[in-house]
Amino acid sequence: MIARTLFSEEHEMFRESVRRFMERELAPHHEEWEEKGEVPRWAWKKAGEQGFLCVAIPEEWGGVGADRRYSIILMEEQARLNLTGLGFPLHSDIVAPYIHHYGTPDQKRAWLPKMATGDYIAAIAMTEPGGGSDLQAIRTTAIRDGDDYVISGQKTFITNGQTADLFLVACKTDRSEGARGISLVMVEADRAGFERGRRLKKLGTKAQDTSELFFNEVRVPATNLIGEEGKGFGYMMQELAWERMHVGIQAVSCCEAALDWTIDYTKSRRAFGKAVIEFQNSRFTLAEMKTEVQVGRIFLDRCLELVLEGKLDTTTAAMVKLWTSEMQGKVLDACLQLHGGYGFMWEYPITRAFADARVQRIYAGTNEIMKELIGRTL
Ligand SMILES: Cc1cc2nc3c(=O)[nH]c(=O)nc-3n(C[C@H](O)[C@H](O)[C@H](O)COP(=O)(O)OP(=O)(O)OC[C@H]3O[C@@H](n4cnc5c(N)ncnc54)[C@H](O)[C@@H]3O)c2cc1C
Repeated sequence: MIARTLFSEEHEMFRESVRRFMERELAPHHEEWEEKGEVPRWAWKKAGEQGFLCVAIPEEWGGVGADRRYSIILMEEQARLNLTGLGFPLHSDIVAPYIHHYGTPDQKRAWLPKMATGDYIAAIAMTEPGGGSDLQAIRTTAIRDGDDYVISGQKTFITNGQTADLFLVACKTDRSEGARGISLVMVEADRAGFERGRRLKKLGTKAQDTSELFFNEVRVPATNLIGEEGKGFGYMMQELAWERMHVGIQAVSCCEAALDWTIDYTKSRRAFGKAVIEFQNSRFTLAEMKTEVQVGRIFLDRCLELVLEGKLDTTTAAMVKLWTSEMQGKVLDACLQLHGGYGFMWEYPITRAFADARVQRIYAGTNEIMKELIGRTL
């Protein structure tokens, strides 16, 4: 493979410690978490103790103050082991940046240090039962009443939904407006009127506590507003580009791992007196996938360089999300096929990766929405 140029020796040392931690401390429990449908708090606390949560948040707010390459490494190592139950990236690299970029010093002081230790788990609640793609049409309201907002509505498909202590909620502060009526309000899980609904049963990412949420006239202080009223949609459009890069990071690392598993498997599995990899069909399939994954890796890494330089535009981020998640679907399907019947057995990592990957084309904006975003710029 073409050598990567994103990381220094120091980054690679960090990768080693992340890999060791994930392999030894988390991976052995993932199956049990799949059965329970959630990751226990101790796993968050352990990650926090190691300094693996909120790494890109400045030290003054409890983070490590590291560059985003460290976040990328954490996501890559998690994807390589297919630990899809861990909602760490969403917590550390989606919710924390909203607070860091748009929050007041008081908000940062109140929430970020506890998020960095794993004492608080965070989630973001945009999607509603009535629709996720058309964000401007959300119906949850936050109505100003004196020094408070009163929040009413319902959200669904919320990652970390059962375990989170803090929810960054997209609400309408002005019902007569579309995008300009949207604001982001932080809701603590212990507020009266806040209720968690079902932990949703899913095709994949089974250790993830994806949930419904209900807001029954939940009163929060107006100081829980993130940034300015009416600017929430703009903030989301800005931050969603980085979230879409997460999909790419997970997709390419997961495909690289899946190729390794499949090459190993086809070397050891025998049919008609020879190793499965000796059939020309197997080699051609693997050769095509290896080429595609290499192309994906180069595209992704170049875009990550642009992220680090603050130069990646939202359209290109949409292209990364679209292309890498489509590639992941194709590659994992082909890898699964080369495993034969074992590829359908839950105990095989390829099976889990295949199931878990399906959502990559759906969340963070569906791939159809990515095409819309790209198409609009033509
Ligand atoms: C496991 C999981 C975790 C998630 N985590 C979170 C989370 O933490 N927080 C959160 O807020 N949300 C989360 N989501 C929600 C996710 O972002 C939405 O499911 C997604 O945005 C799609 O919204 P929808 O499901 O309402 O589909 P819909 O918007 O109803 O779309 C249905 C179909 O119509 C297509 N479509 C819609 N509009 C157009 C258009 N203009 N042009 C062409 N086709 C269109 C879509 O592409 C899709 O194929 C999660 C979802 C899942 C499955």
